[in-house]
Amino acid sequence: KNIVRSYVALPKPPEPFTSPEIRCNKIFINNEWVNSVSGKTFKTINPATGDVITEVAEGDKADVEKAVAAAKEAFKFGSPWRRMDASKRGYLLNKLADLLERDRTYIASLETLDNGKPYTHSYAFDMEGTINVLRYCAGWADKIHGKVIPMDGDVFAYTRHEPVGVCGQIIPWNFPVLMFMWKIAPALATGNTVILKPAEQTPLTALYCAQLIKEAGFPPGVVNVVPGFGPSVGAAISHHNEIDKVAFTGSTEVGKLIQQASGASNLKRVSLELGGKSPNIILDDVNIDFAVENAHFAIFFNMGQVCCAGSRTFVQESIYNEFLDKSATRATKRVIGNPFDLSVDHGPQIDEIQLKKIQSFVESGKKEGATLVTGGSRVGDKGYFIQPTVFADVKDDMKIAKEEIFGPVQQIIKFKDLDELIERANNTVYGLASGVFSNDIDKINYLIQGLRTGVVWVNCYNAMTGQTPFGGYKMSGHGRELGEYGLQAYTEVKSVIIKVPVKNS
Ligand code: NAD
Repeated sequence: KNIVRSYVALPKPPEPFTSPEIRCNKIFINNEWVNSVSGKTFKTINPATGDVITEVAEGDKADVEKAVAAAKEAFKFGSPWRRMDASKRGYLLNKLADLLERDRTYIASLETLDNGKPYTHSYAFDMEGTINVLRYCAGWADKIHGKVIPMDGDVFAYTRHEPVGVCGQIIPWNFPVLMFMWKIAPALATGNTVILKPAEQTPLTALYCAQLIKEAGFPPGVVNVVPGFGPSVGAAISHHNEIDKVAFTGSTEVGKLIQQASGASNLKRVSLELGGKSPNIILDDVNIDFAVENAHFAIFFNMGQVCCAGSRTFVQESIYNEFLDKSATRATKRVIGNPFDLSVDHGPQIDEIQLKKIQSFVESGKKEGATLVTGGSRVGDKGYFIQPTVFADVKDDMKIAKEEIFGPVQQIIKFKDLDELIERANNTVYGLASGVFSNDIDKINYLIQGLRTGVVWVNCYNAMTGQTPFGGYKMSGHGRELGEYGLQAYTEVKSVIIKVPVKNS
């Protein structure tokens, strides 16, 4: 029997720091805090109030040059990092995880301040996932090895899995600390060095974690964090001729720029985790309450700011009306407000740009003939809150069914049978994730094979941990993060072929 597992019933976390002290706001290079070469700073804003939290050093091309020099030096053949035992790299990653556990309440509070997500979620989801990925990658550090290959001829062949080198990593604002660790943990487990750019909206937790990286004992230059903007710091990283790989999470539009920059520079390796318009499919044999709750979680978690959000809810026609009514009622039950309040499960959007973008999608949905069942309006005039929104009668060719909204807007779409459905679900430029809710194993297996997405969740959604690869088909990117595949993306394979003497001569 299906059990309705509601994500609002999270264990109660410790009381947050509602005004966490800002301890790190400069550029982190060579385990030192420095001002930007230009001396410029930028403001980071609390999305719940619109108030400035603090000024952060604004990196630029010159700061990226310094960071690359540090990362290159740390990666030099014979450096302390290159000579470090693999098991010691694993120990350092575990040490870092210990420090995150020690400071979990502080970091979760800082995340909520800078990003606006409910503290209960920062503490339970983001910090849990962050610590989990560190420990998962720590375990791999001394278990990455090549193969012995039986090769023709009088030779002995084996492969070495070596680090790619200096890695540029560019991350978004929706899961700042989690994305930081998704990026650095596999890179460090496999022995690379890193220059990371946090999103300009949310630099604070990445900077604090840089301090913990130093405290954990990583040698200088192994991790460098350069806050700043995409067209300056991000572009300098993606065009740099001495960066060997760039890993990016963010919009498909910027993903294309990163790929082009690789071609225009040194053909650096590129891994991209981009946008989505994921179908979440509800068949008519399900327990409707269970499916409503999970479909709600699939789209409204993190205020809809999730790349794999189940943003096209496909519902079979015989249960469509009941599902719609229950989904609308569920959406109105979200508790909107101060994200530090433990009863709140719905905070603001990240900034005014995103808020306006979502509002324009709501207008377009209405204009194109979808039915606005609930929500659609801004909440208050301080901060960037918008009501949880549900649209019915959504057609596949509407803008709200085709483009990534990245907000709390559920599109409920009717379907008749599975063949028609597979074609419609796949009729998108994206292919990140999908969900299937059913109790019929044959139908589930049929859909799993037909759906062109990097993840298929069955009778669950947004379930992810360090062990399982994550990434997209089509324009949702390429390469995989997490799991063994995610670690491989940070290694080069070297074939070693040694002549073996056949007789003493
Ligand atoms: P974005 O792609 O512009 O930003 C992501 C990161 O890329 C940030 O660190 C940013 O500074 C950097 N960046 C921006 N321009 C760059 C450039 N020219 N070169 C190198 N790096 C650059 O995303 P956004 O503007 O913050 O959000 C826009 C849309 O992107 C959202 O509405 C959403 O649809 C999508 N998005 C997706 C994800 C995801 O997890 N896949 C995350 C955030 C945003």
